Amino acid sequence: MDFRENYSDFFNQLEEKYFEEERFVPSVGSKESNFILIGEAPGANEVKEGEPFVGRAGKRLDEILHKIGVEREQLYITNLVKIRPPENRDPTKEEIEAWAPLLRKELEEIDPEVVITLGNFASKEILDTSKGISKIHGEFFQRNGWRVMPVFHPAATLYDRSKGPELEQDLRKAFDKKDSGQQKLDL
Ligand code: URA
Repeated sequence: MDFRENYSDFFNQLEEKYFEEERFVPSVGSKESNFILIGEAPGANEVKEGEPFVGRAGKRLDEILHKIGVEREQLYITNLVKIRPPENRDPTKEEIEAWAPLLRKELEEIDPEVVITLGNFASKEILDTSKGISKIHGEFFQRNGWRVMPVFHPAATLYDRSKGPELEQDLRKAFDKKDSGQQKLDL
């Protein structure tokens, strides 16, 4: 079923100011997945392709996932806010709140074993904490019956190369994939 049809109750009540057809990117992936990845909001590439995490940050994420033996087809991938904010600004508190009921419904429907929050925005929202991602990444937390693992946003690894190995290490822990001792990707 089409994403918007599936969640028509949510979309019918969403205020017009929080929706824009040309900026909308639905979640992708299997409802049967044991893992849900939650980002912040789509960017220009995501809007163009109609799928979350397909731009530079997404490619980086795919590389790391592939390296640890996970393919994105096995996952359910979504964002806090499903509309690309104008000028690539951060999503506002109001936007996050307006879209939060949809994320809750997705979480309930998928009922994943592990929720992986990518970056500060998703981690703070899901964990209801003000602590920054640098302090909490790579630890499992329990929230509303779900195991939640906050990790660095893959975009952060593009600006700060030292975060690449940390993201890889955290994702290994989240997916319970041991490091075989192969040479690390220089991310
Ligand atoms: N960054 C995000 O947080 N989400 C996307 O879908 C793409 C980039």
